[in-house]
Amino acid sequence: MPNADVLQLNNVTAKYGPTQVLHGISIKVREGGITTLLGANGAGKTTTLRAIFNKVSRSGEIIFAGESITGKAPSEIARLGFAHVPENRGTFTQMTTNENLELGAYMRSDKDGVARDLERMFRRFPVLKERRHQQAGTLSGGEQQMLAIARALMSNPRVLLLDEPSFGLAPLIVREIFEIMKAINAEDGTSILLIEQNAKMSLELADYGYLLEVGEISMQGTAADLRNDDAVRRSYLGN
Ligand code: ATP
Repeated sequence: MPNADVLQLNNVTAKYGPTQVLHGISIKVREGGITTLLGANGAGKTTTLRAIFNKVSRSGEIIFAGESITGKAPSEIARLGFAHVPENRGTFTQMTTNENLELGAYMRSDKDGVARDLERMFRRFPVLKERRHQQAGTLSGGEQQMLAIARALMSNPRVLLLDEPSFGLAPLIVREIFEIMKAINAEDGTSILLIEQNAKMSLELADYGYLLEVGEISMQGTAADLRNDDAVRRSYLGN
C-alpha cells in the first residue's frame, strides 16, 4: 500500500531501572518518506531506537509493515528490514572500507545484487571508492559517517534509522551527507527515520517531524509547518 506507515510507535514508554525516560510517545514513519525526530541532549532519542529494537524495558506497541513486533527479540527485529546507523557509527575500524561494505550485506544471499549495490554505493559515495582499500579507522569523520550509511544500505533495508548522523561534523559535510540521503530516498524509496539535534538541516531534508522533549512528543507536523513555527524557531532554529 503506497504511503502507508511502515513503522508505528503507539504510546511507547521506556525506562532504565526505576527511571522512566519515554512517557508514552506515538510516532509514525511513512513508507517512502523521511521522518525526523528532533530533540535536545538527553531528550530520549537514542532510547526511542532502543525501544524499537526491544533493547530497553518498555511498554506500548510497535508495528512494522502492518504487523506488531512488540514481542519479538532484538535479533529477530534486526532481520525484518531495518538498518541502523548508531550514533558512534559502528564501523569496524581495523577493516577496510570494502570489507565494511561487504559485512553490511552479510545476511543477503543474492551475490549479483550485492555486487551491483556495492557499485551503486561507490557511485553515490565516490570518496569511498577512492578509499576502498583503506582501513576504516583512518578515514575522516565525514567519510566514516558515509561508510556507516553505505554499509547500512548494503543490507537493502526497508527503513534506515539514523542516530545523529551530523554529530561532530562540519556543516558542509553534513549538507553533503544529507543531499546523498535525499537522493537515496528519492531513487530507492528507502524510508528514513532521522534522529537529530540539528533541527535546521533535518527539517530541510525531512517531510515530517516530531519534537521530543524530556521523553514526550511536544509537537509534530510537516517539516514546513515546524520550520515556520515561532516556538520551534526560537528553541531549535535560533532565529
Ligand atoms: P543524546 O543526544 O545526548 O544522545 P538522547 O536524546 O539520545 O540524547 P538518550 O540517550 O535516549 O537521549 O537518554 C535519555 C535519558 O536516559 C538521559 O537522561 C540519559 O541519562 C538516560 N539514560 C540513557 N541510557 C541510560 C542507561 N543505560 N541507564 C540509565 N539511564 C540512561
